[in-house]
Amino acid sequence: QAGASADLRVSDLDVRFGDFKALEGIAIEVWPGEIVGVIGPNGAGKSTLVNALTGVVAPTAGTIELCGRALQRERPNARAKLGLLRTFQTAELFGSLSVNDNISLGIRRAVAERGRDAARIAIERLGVGPLVGLKADDLSGGERKLVELVRSVAGVPDLLLLDEPVAGVPVHDRQRVIELLRDHIARTGASTLLIEHDMEFISGICDWIYVMAAGEIIASGPWAAISTNEVVLEAYLGS
Ligand code: ADP
Ligand code: MG
Repeated sequence: QAGASADLRVSDLDVRFGDFKALEGIAIEVWPGEIVGVIGPNGAGKSTLVNALTGVVAPTAGTIELCGRALQRERPNARAKLGLLRTFQTAELFGSLSVNDNISLGIRRAVAERGRDAARIAIERLGVGPLVGLKADDLSGGERKLVELVRSVAGVPDLLLLDEPVAGVPVHDRQRVIELLRDHIARTGASTLLIEHDMEFISGICDWIYVMAAGEIIASGPWAAISTNEVVLEAYLGS
């Protein structure tokens, strides 16, 4: 689409740790309103990709654009201010603060009113209302993941980056996560890039999926194509 701008466009991205090529030639696009998944066996480079996108790891080559703006030289907090928000594989909350305070910390000044609305809706959708007065330290791992998700949508991201959003979340709450993300995207136009091992979740939510192995993207497409792709099956069986 000439003139149209992807929410996220990653081109020719390389990351090296010494001589080791952790990522090579990575190209990813996420368009407005899309939910895009990244899968791959352990050691494929998924966490390194998230870290490169958020600015925790410096790429050795390539570009990262958020809504047409080059990000690869920006610091992590600048990227967050620009609208790239993330959650962690193991939720990172301020343990001595209440759930409510943790969520409030996610609100960005530029979009504070929309953020408070988004937080209220997410609290309801994810059923975390009974938790808001508790200290984050007193939550279970799965509860922490849900609260972190509320905090990130409270920031009204342009691109939401989720590292294993349902890891540790009980199966009966996973559908709530899917519904929250769909609803949030429908209302705000945000897009989402997520890493996840739960294939049922991936197949149920992603519009498009990239498969990584050994630092490269080896296949991409909708779930129907990915789940029957011989190269993909080989990568998983061979690991
Ligand atoms: P995944 O998240 O897909 O399991 P990672 O991105 O964590 O994979 O790791 C990809 C590869 O990069 C692994 O071989 C890992 O050992 C290596 N790696 C990750 N971080 C570093 C680092 N800081 N220094 C050296 N090697 C690293
Ligand atoms: Mg990882």
